[in-house]
Amino acid sequence: MKKIQSLRGMNDLLPADSPTWQYLESTVRSLFTQYGYREVRTPVVEQIDLFKRSIGEVTDIVEKEMYAFETLGGEQVSLRPEGTAGVVRACEQHGLLHNQTQRLWYLGPMFRYEKPQKGRLRQFHQFGVEVFGLEGPDIDGEILLMTARLWRQLGIADRVTLQINSLGTPQSRAAHRAALVEYLQQHRDQLDADSQRRLETNPLRILDSKNPAMESLLEAAPSLQDYMDDESREHFARLCQILDAAGVAYEVNPRLVRGLDYYSRTVFEWVTDSLGAQGTVCGGGRYDGLVEQLGGKPTPAVGFGMGVERLVLMLDALGVVPDSIGQNLDVYLTAVGDVQVAALTLAEQLRSQCPDLRIQCHSGGGSFKSQMKKADKSGAPVALILAEDEVAAGTVTVKYLREERPQDTVAADQLDELLNNYFGKCHPEPRSGVGISQSIESSTRS
Ligand code: ATP
Ligand code: MG
Repeated sequence: MKKIQSLRGMNDLLPADSPTWQYLESTVRSLFTQYGYREVRTPVVEQIDLFKRSIGEVTDIVEKEMYAFETLGGEQVSLRPEGTAGVVRACEQHGLLHNQTQRLWYLGPMFRYEKPQKGRLRQFHQFGVEVFGLEGPDIDGEILLMTARLWRQLGIADRVTLQINSLGTPQSRAAHRAALVEYLQQHRDQLDADSQRRLETNPLRILDSKNPAMESLLEAAPSLQDYMDDESREHFARLCQILDAAGVAYEVNPRLVRGLDYYSRTVFEWVTDSLGAQGTVCGGGRYDGLVEQLGGKPTPAVGFGMGVERLVLMLDALGVVPDSIGQNLDVYLTAVGDVQVAALTLAEQLRSQCPDLRIQCHSGGGSFKSQMKKADKSGAPVALILAEDEVAAGTVTVKYLREERPQDTVAADQLDELLNNYFGKCHPEPRSGVGISQSIESSTRS
């Protein structure tokens, strides 16, 4: 029978690869918490109209990347392609935007029906941040400083660069759009097929094209900056001041527009050249019009999403994940003979006494020799030997697997002290009253 495989572009995360994810996730979680942001989780499936209305009908995502389907009940739904729309919906639905500001973060899988390749998947993961109710450039600055700190903490600060731009207001965009369309129509023959199609639907996005054949044409196109309103100009200048003062380097890229319709004013991307074509690791900006567009009161907002898989690729390639994130055991407890109950009891006791140690208790029987082989393979530096003799005597034998050092035999109730000294990181809990040797004895008797 043909075995069932995972869907194209959807990856399993296997144990050998999970340390990098755990490292990244715990670093990001504590960073967001450090800045006073709170977590929000929304469903992975939403009504398809939520995405059409927010992201925009003529964007790449809605036109050709939606992982959408009809349910048995006849509802048109889509797996979420990004996080912002769902967060806005949730905040509106639960009244979180009423006369209050929100600083929120999320982590979760996103889905886009794209052609799978390196750094581009159909199920991928994003961290994201959304801030509601604040319109000043200081908050744009805050989230950029937060991302800059993240790169420093992860050890990849010298591998990413920040590009920023301002899209102005919807009014200034409309004026620019008219001029742009006129210019591009005059040079229609020089546009590639994709851009010709976008000329009718999403002309601004043509500026974002990476086709080298159109480079000089786009270079000379009417620039958004020439149509920008004074307030947006001032907003952007102040953001630049904040970044300058904080020593965060950036490049103003007047052609950066981003692929989603809802952006206004600030847009930005953190890009790297260590990932080939899929070089954007984090993108975001201001979306002051979106809440209203989805039926809420006008609410300024700013946020970003970052691609976890791309960051994981970078972290692995650079080898910056600390070894301590690895999953080697500290202690392998063997159970030779009819001592399973005593072994489990001892392991439980040690886990209470030394909560930082990774302790695995042997299961499945077998000879002393075969159990020691497993202990060796586990990577643990210490093996504990518990056989019938030890249980009868209330002792445990400690073998050091990674160094020349004679084994120790200690009373079971002194084991935590020995492990504490050896690993130097145990925090014994207050004794419960029942000593280890006592509980081993009572468990072997029953
Ligand atoms: P790209 O230009 O690479 O297609 P995008 O503009 O579509 O990116 P956003 O919608 O801004 O991307 O999403 C934010 C981040 O999510 C991206 O910068 C990237 O790191 C990640 N990302 C987007 N699409 C994918 C995907 N299909 N697979 C893996 N990561 C992705
Ligand atoms: Mg894309």
